[in-house]
Amino acid sequence: MGMKDTLFVYCIDKENIITSVSDNWDSFALGNDWAGECRSDNVVGHLLWDFIQGMETRHLYEILFKGVRNGKGVGPIPFRCDSPRERRFLELFLSLLPGGQIEITSIIVRSEPRQYVKMLDREAPRSSSLLTICSMCKKIAITRKEWVEVEEGLIRLRLFEADEVPGLSHGLCPTCFQAAMDELD
Ligand SMILES: [Zn+2]
Repeated sequence: MGMKDTLFVYCIDKENIITSVSDNWDSFALGNDWAGECRSDNVVGHLLWDFIQGMETRHLYEILFKGVRNGKGVGPIPFRCDSPRERRFLELFLSLLPGGQIEITSIIVRSEPRQYVKMLDREAPRSSSLLTICSMCKKIAITRKEWVEVEEGLIRLRLFEADEVPGLSHGLCPTCFQAAMDELD
């Protein structure tokens, strides 16, 4: 992966509408197995919230954007953008552009292969139960207070060998929320 490919950028205007994405956006979307609606043609001109999963995550971004619009530079905020076969460690940076736009930059810091995790495969058959996954660090909540790596969670919930995996709902763990808030202080 070249240096240029490790950096992905998009911009939003004052109304949080996506105004542009970097040229390598679609290769990023493909590499992350994102749904077709996340390709650049379908993203520019749309409200960012159409693509952010989970109320807590949206709330976090709203707080961060408010900070940036008040003159704060934000980042690095660590987050993960995992696939079924790879853990990807990224950093998020936000900065204010002239005219009130916000530039959102994601940098891939490193990635490591993992044994296939069915839970993260969009095509995997799902049971009717739900597990909450943190939008930022991709840990899953196995109790209301305990968030662990997907692999560990599946073992502890005895789901590693299951034919059907639970559906995923997106939330935000306390650690990631606090890390983002610390960035604003
Ligand atoms: Zn988290």
